[in-house]
Amino acid sequence: MTCFLLDGDTALDAGSLTEALPLAAQRRLRRVVLTHAHLDHVASLPFLLENLYGRSTPLEVAAPASVLAVLKRDLFNGRLWPDFTRLPSKARPTLRYRAVRPGRPFRAGGMSWTAVPVNHLVPAYGYLVTKPGRAVLFSGDTMPTERLWTAGRVARDLKAIFLEVSFCDAQAAVAKASCHLTPRLLRGELAKAPERVPVFLYHMKPPSLSRIRREVDALDEPRLRLLESERAFRF
Ligand SMILES: [Zn+2]
Ligand SMILES: [Zn+2]
Repeated sequence: MTCFLLDGDTALDAGSLTEALPLAAQRRLRRVVLTHAHLDHVASLPFLLENLYGRSTPLEVAAPASVLAVLKRDLFNGRLWPDFTRLPSKARPTLRYRAVRPGRPFRAGGMSWTAVPVNHLVPAYGYLVTKPGRAVLFSGDTMPTERLWTAGRVARDLKAIFLEVSFCDAQAAVAKASCHLTPRLLRGELAKAPERVPVFLYHMKPPSLSRIRREVDALDEPRLRLLESERAFRF
């Protein structure tokens, strides 16, 4: 149920924002940037919007148009959940979509963001997020990728990489079918990653977590750390 909170007012993905944040912190959110529209990345968005209903500034949901199209058609469609771009009124909506161009930097929350297309079942993007003197790279959901690492290698002052690993090696077939990484596939990705940058692993499927932990330990890669919920980092 992926979500990252950046500088308190910007979320990357919205898998469990309403579960993770008290109401006051939810109200501080100005925008959510999405990697893709899979449910484990947007599940809390309907309830977040409900909690923010009627406030003076709409919540901005930013992503490439291919991702926003799924939200409009399949989630906030007036059947599964209301269309918050018209509520309480069209003139004063709770939700505003912002389509961003992959590969083209955009500003959000005092940071510069660049969406990087990655390899997943549906249109999906990693993000390079930068501020002067520091940059962080998020993979989103992906199987082996080249473009993410191209972005990572040219990034200046890269402080951390957040990389998905979803399944253990015994589930390689499921990982392949669902376009995700396993610890074995990680080895190949690390060879493409910039050296000496810490890599925080996330998106472990709960039933696979203990095996993933053992298999990641066995890789004996000092760069790798398994991410835990509610950890905070300063870069
Ligand atoms: Zn996904
Ligand atoms: Zn996912």
